[in-house]
Amino acid sequence: MILLDGKKVAQEIRSKLRDSVTFNIEKGLRAPKLAIVIVGHNPASETYVANKIKACQEVGIEVEKIVMEESIKERELLAMVRRLNRDKSVDGFIVQLPLPEHISEAKVLTAIDFRKDVDGLTPMSMGRAIQGLPAFRSATPSGILELLQAYAIPTEGKHVVVIGRSNIVGKPMAMMLMQRPYLSLPNMSASALGDATVTVCHSKTRRLGAICRTADIIIVAAGSPKLLKANMVKEGAVVIDVGINRMDDASFPRGYRLVGDVDFEAVAPKCSYITPVPGGVGPMTIAMLLKQTSLAYSAKVLGLKMK
Ligand code: NAD
Repeated sequence: MILLDGKKVAQEIRSKLRDSVTFNIEKGLRAPKLAIVIVGHNPASETYVANKIKACQEVGIEVEKIVMEESIKERELLAMVRRLNRDKSVDGFIVQLPLPEHISEAKVLTAIDFRKDVDGLTPMSMGRAIQGLPAFRSATPSGILELLQAYAIPTEGKHVVVIGRSNIVGKPMAMMLMQRPYLSLPNMSASALGDATVTVCHSKTRRLGAICRTADIIIVAAGSPKLLKANMVKEGAVVIDVGINRMDDASFPRGYRLVGDVDFEAVAPKCSYITPVPGGVGPMTIAMLLKQTSLAYSAKVLGLKMK
């Protein structure tokens, strides 16, 4: 069994990005700039945003953090989105999810210009991606593809089971895996991955275990600790654990530890490759945000156009 070390692969991506940012600055160009909008004070969101800011700073990407109060009106957030769409100094921006209940996530995401949608979550980005047109891709699924690529794990002709059908992970993951490999952006190399036979499972799926046992690769994004058990995995399968669940544990400094959706101790011995939690998919997601911000910058500053 080989551990898929997302932390190490993400670090390599970050160090290449740092080199390219430094190179452009030495040539007299400006640094790429990402804006992050956060509404309210959800502790998990604050942690995610703090991690993203730290990662940007490490590679030399400028960040503008925009904090809006929980009580703001939907139209105020939409006005901020429009401001960021117009702001020429901002290459890409994200609105941290989830949003307070009185604000429609769909409306906010739809308002984001797809050329600045470095999280790849807007309907326009996803629609373009489905049709193989240049667009930013959802950060978590594209991070998973990069991780598979880094370990030379092919997907062509493989049966991949994706557990979860969310807009941010399950759906775009399934879509990317079943695509013929394509260029997502003008200056991005074609992904060697795709061409898989994909089964998507969800909370209403019957005989989940039997379906998983036929999989060469299982990607779990359900948000349910220890959902994937050893008897659901065939010998030699590749297992990607997207789940991030907090489990109370007084022996950890924060009073909890992070666990994934896979019963790791029991499943790992049966796998050819498996991701740990933490240190697997999580760091890759942030690396993709940085990479796509840098691509948005290149598209603008270096004149590569998304058509
Ligand atoms: P979500 O809650 O929007 O969707 C969960 C999906 O799992 C649903 O489609 C549901 O039908 C399915 N599901 C739930 N229980 C199931 C079960 N028992 N059997 C089969 N299917 C089941 O979740 P999401 O936003 O896609 O996130 C999933 C998990 O991944 C969460 O733990 C989240 O924290 C984590 N996540 C991690 C990253 C990362 O970078 N590592 C990024 C995004 C999400």
